[in-house]
Order: sequence, then structure tokens, then C-alpha cells
Amino acid sequence: MKKQNHKTIDLRSDTITKPTPEMLEFMIQAEVGDDVFAEDPTVKAFEEKISNLFGMEAGLFVPSGTMGNQLGVKVLTNPGDEILIDYKGHIYNYETGGAGMLSGVQINPIHGSNGKLSVSDIKDHVRGNFDWEPKTSVLCLENTTNKGGGVCYSKEELKSLKAFADENNLKVHVDGARIWNAMVATGVEPEFFGEIGHTLSVCFSKGLGAPAGSMLISTKENIAKARRFRKMWGGGMRQVGLLAAAADYALDNNLPKLKEDHRRAKKLAKAISECSQLSVDTDSVETNIVIFDVLDESATDALAKLEAEGVLMVPFGPKTIRATFHFEIGDEQLEKVVSVIRKIFR
Ligand SMILES: *Cc1c(COP(=O)(O)O)cnc(C)c1O
Repeated sequence: MKKQNHKTIDLRSDTITKPTPEMLEFMIQAEVGDDVFAEDPTVKAFEEKISNLFGMEAGLFVPSGTMGNQLGVKVLTNPGDEILIDYKGHIYNYETGGAGMLSGVQINPIHGSNGKLSVSDIKDHVRGNFDWEPKTSVLCLENTTNKGGGVCYSKEELKSLKAFADENNLKVHVDGARIWNAMVATGVEPEFFGEIGHTLSVCFSKGLGAPAGSMLISTKENIAKARRFRKMWGGGMRQVGLLAAAADYALDNNLPKLKEDHRRAKKLAKAISECSQLSVDTDSVETNIVIFDVLDESATDALAKLEAEGVLMVPFGPKTIRATFHFEIGDEQLEKVVSVIRKIFR
């Protein structure tokens, strides 16, 4: 990674935030123990708090969202199964083929819309009636969608997908790395997501700003099973209450700030839509992510121009760029980004 000067405005991801002094202070005060022995009081209390929040029985604190997702797939499948996910899904694109390796399942990547699936997208993809077919066992839903541009499912969309899943004996895994953004943008209450997913994975290191940490939430039985695989995969951690405290602090203090990220993302999208050399679907900017296209050059060339002006974003395709808002980007930085964008892409 490049060394950045203090003026650089970093929109590459909502994972780049540093722990604030207040968060560090809160972490120091955490009571800790050996969590492999299930003796870390801070972790145990936090797992209970989060599983209660979503109306589910139990939670398991894990190092990353990837581990949360992979454990979800693991406890819901048998080797030889097939899982359905939108082709933009994180489990399909960004988890180094883990589902095949760790659970022995194959992925059927379905073409939905902005990373979201609907019943009509999946209705012809459920298999399992013949000995020679894989058994379709899990439907993975991402909320908000990352590669899909941070869009959210509505309650109605999730209800119909859940009803379809139930009718077809599919389990549902919700990849809620950014469920917090979805909750803030749509007002859907957390318990609702607990009703949709058999397993739900949430992250504290994305927009919320904890240094690390995610959680898998499910039934007691599934979590007991996941706990063994977490250990097998090297994710059993010892005095990890320090990180659970950071995550707890992040949730209590930074959740309300997500609304501001969403407002700023919309403002950037509007400015982008007014540039002749850029194109963006402003309607799809529902949360903190802005995905846009450059028309006259490659994403790499455009990113180099932005970087020369002190603005960092990431490529998301040959001509596609992603900008992601987080609490280290205030209105002043937003104004700077807007003026740089206008200057370069007119
Ligand atoms: C970031 C992200 C994850 C998890 O990523 P980690 O880097 O492993 O914490 C999972 N799903 C989605 C949709 C994400 O955006």
C-alpha cells in the first residue's frame, strides 16, 4: 500500500478508518479472558447483544466477514450441494473460492440486478430431484450489495424470496457485511433480518469503523457447529474481548453516522452525473457506495488522474470505479472530491 500524505482523501473502502482515541480508550477497559475456553466476558456479552438485536439465538465473533460467510455456508450445506447467489456476490467473487474448498459446494452465480436476486431470477435454478444433479440447498442474499453498488432489499423483496426458499427447502444465508447501512437507509428493523436468514453474517469493520471483527448469528445448534469449524480454520481467538469492545463501541457510536455517508454518496453521484466524461445511475446510490463508469478512457487511467489530485478510489471493472464513504470523509473532503471530479471529467 502506498504511503499517503495527510491531504489524501481515501474513498477506496469503508474499511480504511482508524480506531479513534475514544474507541481505543473503551477497548483498554474491556474485561477479557480466553475465548477459546469461552471465558471472555466481553465477547460473550457482545455475542448475546448482537444475536438478541437480530432476534436470533446465538452469535459467534469471528475475525472477518469472509469467515462469517464461509461458516454460514458450512453449517447450512453438505458437500456436493449447490448454492445460489447473484453473480456479483462477495462469496462468489471475493472469498478466494472458499465455498468450494471449505464446504465442498459449487456455486451457481445468477444474474440478478445490482447484486440483488428476485424470485423470478432464481425460480428455474432449484435442482435436486435427480441422483445426478447437485442438491440446491442454500440461497445467499447480500444486503447491502457491495459489487452491486450498495443497494438494499426491501422488506417485500426479502419476504417473497424467503417464502420461495421455504417452499423449495432452501436455507437462506444473509451476507450482511453492510446490514447496518441497509437498516439505516430503509428503516427495516434488525429482527426482520433474523426472520429471513437461517444464518446472518454482519461486519463491524466496514462503515462502523472497528479495526476487525464480524459475527455469524443463527440458532444455538448452528453456532455450536460453527464454533468447531472456526477453531479448525484457525479463527479461535484468545483475549479477543479487546476487539469485541471495539466492535461494541463502533456499533453504539458510529451507526448514526452512516446516514451522513449516504447523503454524501448521493451528492457525489449527482456531481458525477453532471460530468460529460462520466456516467452513473444515480437511482442506484442508496447507501455509501457510488459505482460509476468513465466513458473516454480506462478506469486505471482515470484513477491515476484522481490520485494525482489527492483522491483515491478503486477500479471495479475495465471502465468502472467505486467510491465508498465512511466517517473519516466529512463535507469538506466531499467538496474537494466534487471539485476534483468536475475539473478532470468536466
Ligand atoms: C467486505 C465484505 C465481506 C467481508 O469481508 P472481509 O474483508 O472478509 O471482512 C463480506 N461480504 C460483503 C458483501 C462485503 O462487502
